[in-house]
Amino acid sequence: MKQRLRAVLNEIEVELKNATTRGKVADYIPPLAQVDPAKFGIAVMLHDGTLISAGDAQEKFSIQSISKVFALTLALGKRGDAIWHRVGREPSGDPFNSSILLELEKGMPRNPFINAGAIVISDILLSSHQPRETIGEIVRFVQSIAEDDDIYIDEVVAKAEDRTGFNNAALANLLKANKNLDNLPPHVLGVYHHQCALAMSCEQLACAGLFLSASGRNPISNHRIVSVERALRINALMMTCGHYDGSGDFAFRVGVPAKSGVGGGILATVPGIASIAVWSPGLNQHGNSLLGTRALELLCRRMGWSIFGR
Ligand code: GLU
Repeated sequence: MKQRLRAVLNEIEVELKNATTRGKVADYIPPLAQVDPAKFGIAVMLHDGTLISAGDAQEKFSIQSISKVFALTLALGKRGDAIWHRVGREPSGDPFNSSILLELEKGMPRNPFINAGAIVISDILLSSHQPRETIGEIVRFVQSIAEDDDIYIDEVVAKAEDRTGFNNAALANLLKANKNLDNLPPHVLGVYHHQCALAMSCEQLACAGLFLSASGRNPISNHRIVSVERALRINALMMTCGHYDGSGDFAFRVGVPAKSGVGGGILATVPGIASIAVWSPGLNQHGNSLLGTRALELLCRRMGWSIFGR
């Protein structure tokens, strides 16, 4: 299987290298507009610790909304199922940054992976701490699950989003007005924008997500990160809500739980088999990596990895 996987990753890298349609890099966060759209990396980590990668898989990029998976995991660990009184578990069918449903549904975000829901999760993590402490806690958590200390926040990206994230400020204010934030919007947004600015490579991300493909336990260190039930549920949310209003199409084409970010990364899990991270900065109309999705579609088809059968 490993030999086949290595060959498939190389094939995909070659096939996508010269693609002329690569999507559009996110330019609403100024530093992300500077990222080279020709970059492409992919890494797969298997349960015996084998890491197979191709392309720019060791280069760090802004993980953006992929961080919502880690923040949710941390919040569930602190507050358990009580978080579901403040955020739902349904796909929104709306763009990632939409405020339409939030207003109609009185400040209860549809799920933790759209911006409004992730801002509520940041508020839960902030609880009564200082934003700095919470940001440090998130970084340490991601370092621990990736078993890698070389993971940090890109302050340039975080500050740029703090300066320009007016849409997120609107969401935070709407949440606060509806009594679904305990802390002040600027403090919550500071945490949220910093977590989004985590810089990681595909190889680091594949390691960090491995527990989700192994029922909540790191299969290499044997370290349990979440309960079996919780891991299954996080995967279910990734499957149904991980690609915003493109989640149905992603499930249709790729067929594994995954979470995207506007930095062009996608973290995917193949339950019982592997964790995958891919990066290509150009995005499709839903804000999901265009070639990253294509790469996962090819990989899961060629390896027979859809969770829906083969
Ligand atoms: N920091 C980004 C935002 O709030 C995350 C969006 C994403 O990656 O989908 O707009």
